[in-house]
Amino acid sequence: MFSINEIREQFPVLNQQVYVKPLVYFDNAATTQKPLCVIDRERDYYLHENCNIHRGVHYLSQKATEAYEHARQTVADFIHAKEAKEIIFTRGTTESLNLLATSFEHFCIGEGDNVLITAMEHHSNLVPWQQMVQRHHGQLLVVPMDDKGVLDLNRYEELLKEGPKVVSIAHISNVLGTINPVKEMIAMAHQYGIPVVVDGAQSIAHHPIDVQDLDCDFFVFSGHKMYAPMGIGGLYGKVEWLEKLPPYQFGGEMVDTVSFEKTTFNVLPYKFEAGTPNVGAALGLETAIQFIQSLDRNEVEKHETRLLQSAIEQLSDIEGIRFIGEAAHRSGLVSFIIDGIHPYDLGTIIDKMGVAVRTGHHCAEPVMTRFGIPGTVRASFALYNTMEEVEVFVNAVKKAAMMLR
Ligand code: PMP
Repeated sequence: MFSINEIREQFPVLNQQVYVKPLVYFDNAATTQKPLCVIDRERDYYLHENCNIHRGVHYLSQKATEAYEHARQTVADFIHAKEAKEIIFTRGTTESLNLLATSFEHFCIGEGDNVLITAMEHHSNLVPWQQMVQRHHGQLLVVPMDDKGVLDLNRYEELLKEGPKVVSIAHISNVLGTINPVKEMIAMAHQYGIPVVVDGAQSIAHHPIDVQDLDCDFFVFSGHKMYAPMGIGGLYGKVEWLEKLPPYQFGGEMVDTVSFEKTTFNVLPYKFEAGTPNVGAALGLETAIQFIQSLDRNEVEKHETRLLQSAIEQLSDIEGIRFIGEAAHRSGLVSFIIDGIHPYDLGTIIDKMGVAVRTGHHCAEPVMTRFGIPGTVRASFALYNTMEEVEVFVNAVKKAAMMLR
């Protein structure tokens, strides 16, 4: 059973007033709040278990190592990876993508080689690939989208024929909410022998992920968008790819033997985890996963869909509103602008009414260029949000629009 009140009790941060108004937190695509169990887990680690891992023979070090590796197994099970060693802990999506861009550069990128992305990528799934191919006089191939925010798969197929070395695509757009047909896109890329990276930053908290079913070669995500602490995230990679790719960062832990002449590298997953990791956050991530799994995910999905539909329905009444992103298959968030009103002004006024939304380009400037707008107002939902909050939000937007006109 899905009890919103019980859930909200686990998120004390939601129970506060801002500017003497109850907080309505609709900035979940930027980061979700953390439940008490996650906060407690990290705190417990520092209270009772803190130690560097994989190094000491002593009790605490072994205990921390076991806990960290247990967390890795939990992540692997959560996204249905075949083996725990396919999970690399990173700081989050951005670091995972930088790891892949750097590693691919050393592995196979030559003069004039290209990487294929889509028109709706977050900067962190654009800039690392762009900088990398440009160093070799290559370029990004970009799958365009239509006015609703749906990718053009015919063009995708044509671009695949140009032989990009990697395809890297968002599972769900953080601006448009579009759920991309990644399974189909992965199968298409594989027909041309091209590996596919899925940016799961916006999907992992809201939809069950099965990397074997998707057949993606890589899947990247951030813990802080799935009720876990900041500073932890992951990279899933098929073993055969992770074995082939060279390390990203160098230093302690990722080595096997070191001399002044030569270094050999550790086995997976340690080959990609140089230096001391964020153990406490990894344990928090494990607890966040257990928290998500303790709920009926179907019910959670339905609840979040109801919030989204209600928001869209109620906002539609507003004169001059334009939704940015109207794909039939979408999730989690609504982006819009209102004629003659700057998103920033709207966001600032509704903030004073207690409503937290994101305004601006959402780290996806090319999406703004595509739609010819300076930015959007984005409301994004999580499992602890309520229908009443949607109403408060819509009323705040209506009031602000009247004031600004
Ligand atoms: N990709 C997408 C689709 C995102 O929404 C985000 C975060 N807004 C990122 C990548 C980057 O994630 P992080 O800042 O946690 O590394």
